[in-house]
Amino acid sequence: QAKKLGYNYVLEYEPNMAKRLISTSSMRSNLQEAIDNDELELHYQPIVRSNDQHVVQVEALLRWPQSDGSFIAPDEFIPVAEMTGQIIPLSEWVFKRACEDAIKLQQREPKLRMSVNISALHFNRANFVDFVLDTLAETGCRGAWLELELTESILLEGSQYAIERLEMLRKHGLSIALDDFGTGFSSLSYLKRLPLDVVKIDRSFIAGIRHHKGDRVLIESVIKIAQSLNFAVLAEGIETPQQAEFVTELGCNFLQGFYFGRPVPLEDL
Ligand code: C2E
Ligand code: MG
Ligand code: MG
Ligand code: MG
Repeated sequence: QAKKLGYNYVLEYEPNMAKRLISTSSMRSNLQEAIDNDELELHYQPIVRSNDQHVVQVEALLRWPQSDGSFIAPDEFIPVAEMTGQIIPLSEWVFKRACEDAIKLQQREPKLRMSVNISALHFNRANFVDFVLDTLAETGCRGAWLELELTESILLEGSQYAIERLEMLRKHGLSIALDDFGTGFSSLSYLKRLPLDVVKIDRSFIAGIRHHKGDRVLIESVIKIAQSLNFAVLAEGIETPQQAEFVTELGCNFLQGFYFGRPVPLEDL
């Protein structure tokens, strides 16, 4: 799947491969134009604390607006950007804009933290930590206002190296979330070694709560294990009050999903 693109991606033969390659190359040049012309946007989705449903955080989500008013979804163009190398300038743009917006948000709502998704390719660059610290200094954003969302693949790559970086970032006040938990390959023994603040349970498990006992059991055990390791747990993709109630009762600390709010431009937040 496109989402799995990254270091570990292996191209498999597909009958419509030629078509896909053409669309990839046109997407590449259109994306370059969008980056150069500063056409990309960050939208923000609220994250609430489960006990009182107060908004305590927002997640920055990248949007590529089209001339007809629609958006190309990040799941479509981020894998392309990762393949072409455009992910680095893109990810740098995202982080810088997120810092600038975090400052604006702090003025309106102190204590509101912002989470930013970080591509494995960016995180694994030698100067990633320096880039983060330089951008904080340059924009005036504090580390404590930010949370970085990383996926399991990052952590699989780096092991000790990744752990050291995470520790450095946390020393500067940033918190670290493990995104899409449950969709990758990380084992629980591996989770134990990571300096994390939050584990985000992937929305596919939340979607299965009603009909799949396996998903309920899994959520329950992830929450227990994460909390025994002193990580907070966030449930993604909450679309109904029943789902919110279910995961809250299980002890989930934070909730995110369309039930609480969709991603919107900063002005509309
Ligand atoms: P993610 O980080 O797991 O972000 C959550 C995704 O779930 C977002 O999709 C969000 O709009 C969607 N979502 C939130 N609540 C609900 C819900 O209740 N129901 C459903 N069906 N969906 C919900 P989006 O914005 O399309 O982003 C998709 C993925 O693209 C993100 O998944 C993240 O992996 C990646 N992404 C987005 N922005 C960035 C970025 O700035 N940098 C990087 N590297 N990746 C990004
Ligand atoms: Mg995320
Ligand atoms: Mg996620
Ligand atoms: Mg996701």
